[in-house]
Amino acid sequence: MSKKAILIICDGMGDRPVKEYDYKTPLETANTPNLNKLAEEGLVGLMDPISPGIRPGSDVAHLAILGYNPYECYAGRGSLEAAGAGIQLKPGDIAFRANFATVNEDLTIVDRRAGRIKTGIKELAEAINQIKIESVNGVSVEFYPTIEHRGVLIFRGEKLSKNVSDTDPHEIGVKPLKSKPLDDSIEAERMAKALNEFTEKSFHVLKNHQINLNRVKIGEKPANIILARGAGSYFKLKTFQEKYGIKTAAIAAVALVKGVCRIAGMEIIDVKGATGGLNTNFNGKADEAAKAIKHYDFVFLHVKATDVAGHDGNFKAKVEAIENIDKMIGRLIDQLDLNETYVTITADHCTPINFKDHSGDPVPILIHGPETFHSEIKKFCEKTASQGNLCRIKGIDIMAILTNYMGISEKFGY
Ligand SMILES: [Zn+2]
Repeated sequence: MSKKAILIICDGMGDRPVKEYDYKTPLETANTPNLNKLAEEGLVGLMDPISPGIRPGSDVAHLAILGYNPYECYAGRGSLEAAGAGIQLKPGDIAFRANFATVNEDLTIVDRRAGRIKTGIKELAEAINQIKIESVNGVSVEFYPTIEHRGVLIFRGEKLSKNVSDTDPHEIGVKPLKSKPLDDSIEAERMAKALNEFTEKSFHVLKNHQINLNRVKIGEKPANIILARGAGSYFKLKTFQEKYGIKTAAIAAVALVKGVCRIAGMEIIDVKGATGGLNTNFNGKADEAAKAIKHYDFVFLHVKATDVAGHDGNFKAKVEAIENIDKMIGRLIDQLDLNETYVTITADHCTPINFKDHSGDPVPILIHGPETFHSEIKKFCEKTASQGNLCRIKGIDIMAILTNYMGISEKFGY
């Protein structure tokens, strides 16, 4: 009989030895009785999300971990953001991750997140959606706000390419960038031109919008321009159902990760209070995952908090996030039949607190299940993982290993 599996990704959990904390990592420092128990009774090793030394974005790392070769299928961040927001792209569409931002009169960026705007977003989006692209024939634009300052921008029409640069400079005190074609194609040229026209027009429709005038009056930053980044094009993946014949669900708050899961054919389960932040609803995630595995063969569970702490360079917050994850896992496994279910816990990459960005180091991984050898490792962390019985694998190996244990993989050869 086939078994079930839960795959838990603690975003950016891996780290490097931190000098200021006695050369320990946050995972090594954290009190993690549940992770330790699963590690001791299961397989433990190191995992290179892509390949040793390659620094992955969360999008390509998740593609690899879910069994898709990102070098073959990755089509840019924007398309995953769109999928995460539940927007169906059509072949030919180009999607961008977009932000409401605040610029002053000479267009210098004051805040890339427009004071994390929370109200009036719908009205501002309606105004943006009146924008017509005139400099490029046959191209229309749609803006979909998602959460707070975030949104997805979609250009539709003939002859567009994702091969263009961002307008978002990723810093304040400078002006929005002009998008440039990144190759000699007419498609890239058309796309860059349309995006530049849109950016300029977004400022004109937003700067004197009543919502923004009101914001300024009460001392809040106006959301007076749209910045775009991460152009992506439509793409399709063979779903888990098509690949393995299994029913799958995903629990994730971050749009990018949701997008990967949705394109992989997973049912998205929303958890109340799941924020993608340090204060996310850990208990809710555990309970929903336990409930979901009764109805699905495979459940994917993502927690962003560890990555947030890593980007902030906050050791203590990362330790706390890991301890919260450990409690979440304890609550989850209490509700599982561990004779029927494989539980895998790893990260999609390291976000070392002294580097404050994704690094190319391997991450620790554990696989616990009814027929795994016991590693006998007492403490789950980066150091001990290198001594583990799973040795060193790549992200792309995980689904092969899990479907093998689940009893649903196909034999290669006769
Ligand atoms: Zn990540």
